[in-house]
Amino acid sequence: DDRIARIASSIRVIPDFPKPGILFQDITTLLLNPKAFKDTIDLFVERYKDKNINVVAGIEARGFIFGPPIALAIGAKFVPMRKPKKLPGEVISEEYSLEYGTDVIEMHVGAVQAGERALVVDDLIATGGTLSAAIRLLERVGVDVVECACLIELPELKGRDRLGDRPLYVLIS
Ligand code: 5GP
Repeated sequence: DDRIARIASSIRVIPDFPKPGILFQDITTLLLNPKAFKDTIDLFVERYKDKNINVVAGIEARGFIFGPPIALAIGAKFVPMRKPKKLPGEVISEEYSLEYGTDVIEMHVGAVQAGERALVVDDLIATGGTLSAAIRLLERVGVDVVECACLIELPELKGRDRLGDRPLYVLIS
């Protein structure tokens, strides 16, 4: 699919961000290219439109860029999964480990119902800690996580292995 090559070439790599030794994959340059941005959304919509998904869960912050257009196109609701203390209503939380320390993601109570079918969206999977926490949060309330979707996977970090048997679909590895 020649769309993938266009998407890949629209992503900028910035060395030593946010700290020395990290090669940061910057998706903001993809957003500056309307054709490549549309191709990105179209590829996900083509994959998910007939899968009876009724929840798109987007992970803060870049899952909030790619999740909503996918949700609108497939007729699903969008649920933000946020960093702690951002959501105003009652929340449920899930902790996950980072290289140093831990982090937490939160979701509003009542945003999803047991038995609903969810797609989890983020821009990138590195260690898989963030996505696995999102999966746990959704599964705790009885949601069926059909698949996780990211633009980019860093395969050497083996994040995929942390997702258990939940499928992961990526455009660029
Ligand atoms: P993980 O939890 O898989 O180790 O890290 C994934 C999370 O960190 C995602 O929410 C992703 O947005 C962010 N992240 C880590 N590295 C990068 C990067 O190089 N580029 C971008 N855009 N996001 C990153």
